[in-house]
Amino acid sequence: MPSTSNNPHLPFGENKNAPWYGKDILSVKQFDRPNLEYVFGVAHEMRGMVERVGTFDLLKGKILANLFYEPSTRTSSSFTAAMERLGGSVIPINEVKYSSVSKGESLADTVRTLECYTDVIVLRHPETGAAAIAAKAARKPIINAGDGVGEHPTQALLDTFTIFEELGLETIDGKTITMLGDLKYGRTVHSLARLASMYNVKLNYVSPEILRMPEAVMEEVKAKGVAQAEYRSLEQVLPETDVLYVTRVQKERFENPEDYDKVKGAYVIDPEIMKAAKKEMIVMHPLPRVGEISPDFDDDPRAAYFRQMEYGLYVRMALLAMVLGKA
Ligand code: ASP
Repeated sequence: MPSTSNNPHLPFGENKNAPWYGKDILSVKQFDRPNLEYVFGVAHEMRGMVERVGTFDLLKGKILANLFYEPSTRTSSSFTAAMERLGGSVIPINEVKYSSVSKGESLADTVRTLECYTDVIVLRHPETGAAAIAAKAARKPIINAGDGVGEHPTQALLDTFTIFEELGLETIDGKTITMLGDLKYGRTVHSLARLASMYNVKLNYVSPEILRMPEAVMEEVKAKGVAQAEYRSLEQVLPETDVLYVTRVQKERFENPEDYDKVKGAYVIDPEIMKAAKKEMIVMHPLPRVGEISPDFDDDPRAAYFRQMEYGLYVRMALLAMVLGKA
């Protein structure tokens, strides 16, 4: 079919020379420091716009497909909210069992179908590498919203944006980030460790033995010259921590349910434990939490996990505007 995309009279034209126009967002490895600062600058603008006007027409006429093969509350609804705040619309496919996927359609064919109707596809899938497979099949941008135990790049971007905004920093150089819980299966910490290692930070990993940070991620961090150390107990590192990043033990990824029973509830953050932490620090969690942070801690000003979700909206607005040539 002949393309009409070069027609200068079409409304809502995009800037095809914009650096992220038409690009996929598959991994945090695509970002360097200037790129990150660019995303955060746009996200900061988006925050200002939402606070001032709520919704505006930057992506009017654009359509997003939200294709989720795994459960999601925050990621799918924040991408929907992001698109709608920018004046665009969304085709949600949350229950793939009601789509042709249940008839055996391949991921490649599903994304080829959706790109006929939409401008960008957000994909969550249980298999590591699925987003890259989808991106190979698709001509339109694919945004990885979590691929199994692989990566969750938009979460890591919003996590890093949260750290900057909450701590009011120009840089996170010199800060200590402690990741706690399921570092093996938690894809958000894999992405965050990679992204944070672009800065001169110290990374502490606190986990049960069977849920250690994967060697491959630690090797990448090491290659960047970033200090990192592993612990089994939080007490040793809590007093020096500027950002405590708590994760859920990922029950659904365990092959053996007995292993899950051994490590669930290994660490619980509560007001008593947090007495040993700095007054000026933050506690983050990608959520959902299933007991790792006591609700008794929620009113502490250091509890940043609910605010973190809101930062996610601004970062996802920024990313959508970028890949659609509007930022
Ligand atoms: N929501 C995050 C994710 O999709 C964290 C989690 O599920 O524990 O990876």
